[in-house]
Amino acid sequence: MIIDSVTQTASQIIHSCSGEQVTIKRTASVGGGCINDAHRLDTNVGSYFVKYNHAARYPGMFEAEAKGLELLAADTEDPELSPLYVPKVIGHDEAAGYGVLVLEYIEGGNQRSDFWEAFGSGLARMHQRRPDSGMFGLDHDNYIGSLRQFNQEFDNWIGFFVSQRLDPQIKLARDEGKAGPDLTNMFARLYNHLGDFFPEEPPCLLHGDLWSGNYMTGNEGQAVILDPAVYYGHRYMDLGMSQLFGGFNPTFYKAYHETWPLDKSWQNSMDIANLYPLMVHVNLFGGGYLGSVKSILNRFR
Ligand code: ADP
Repeated sequence: MIIDSVTQTASQIIHSCSGEQVTIKRTASVGGGCINDAHRLDTNVGSYFVKYNHAARYPGMFEAEAKGLELLAADTEDPELSPLYVPKVIGHDEAAGYGVLVLEYIEGGNQRSDFWEAFGSGLARMHQRRPDSGMFGLDHDNYIGSLRQFNQEFDNWIGFFVSQRLDPQIKLARDEGKAGPDLTNMFARLYNHLGDFFPEEPPCLLHGDLWSGNYMTGNEGQAVILDPAVYYGHRYMDLGMSQLFGGFNPTFYKAYHETWPLDKSWQNSMDIANLYPLMVHVNLFGGGYLGSVKSILNRFR
């Protein structure tokens, strides 16, 4: 059941956007999310996707998600640079202790025959978008899952990856007793070799959390990307995450490579890129993920 105050906040957001008096016809819970409560809201002016959580626990989460979605959707003059479909942001607000985000509702569809090809080449074109600052990072912090993601800008990828991605996750795991000093030492040994795994490339616009739960098939059979943790970074981060829990078709990678070729050793770097989401999983879920992290780091003795 959706909370009454959330329905009211969502109605106001929809009213501000549409200018219409909003009547709720039906609400239904949507499963599949990791962090927030999600619902479909059917109204007299259309259907909407509504997510909510405790505002005090995750300050600014939905503001950051809205900014990320808008950045990915980018109203650029050149549709070639905005090739993947992103749900439209209707608005976000906080009321009665709840943060509420309202998005366009995406009706699921069946994958059209060029789904993977268009998804792969679309992601490669999205990755070709560059920050005005020319820096790795972003002008604001955001979240990955329910954890804070730091985006202080750096002029080089390795500096950013170590100080904004890996080190904060190692510190969190140590502070919360999920890992010991051996983990810090193991990462320190990797740090000497990081340059071997990331060819020098300019900062790319990244989805930032592109695992198989964060895309769906839209009603025209196209790929729709959801729930991002956007920043400008190395494109291996999105490619790595796409492989973390399976689900992306080989045609996706072929089309990506044809659009923006990858270095021939790119597959060897995926484990290294995935140390970040794996450490996020150690901090969110603990348990077996630390073993996965250590088995990657054990290569560096
Ligand atoms: P969380 O922030 O809790 O991880 P998500 O944003 O991933 O939640 O959304 C949970 C699920 O809801 C997704 O896996 C997807 O199936 C569905 N979903 C997300 N956004 C939309 C949308 N705009 N329209 C329809 N369904 C959506």
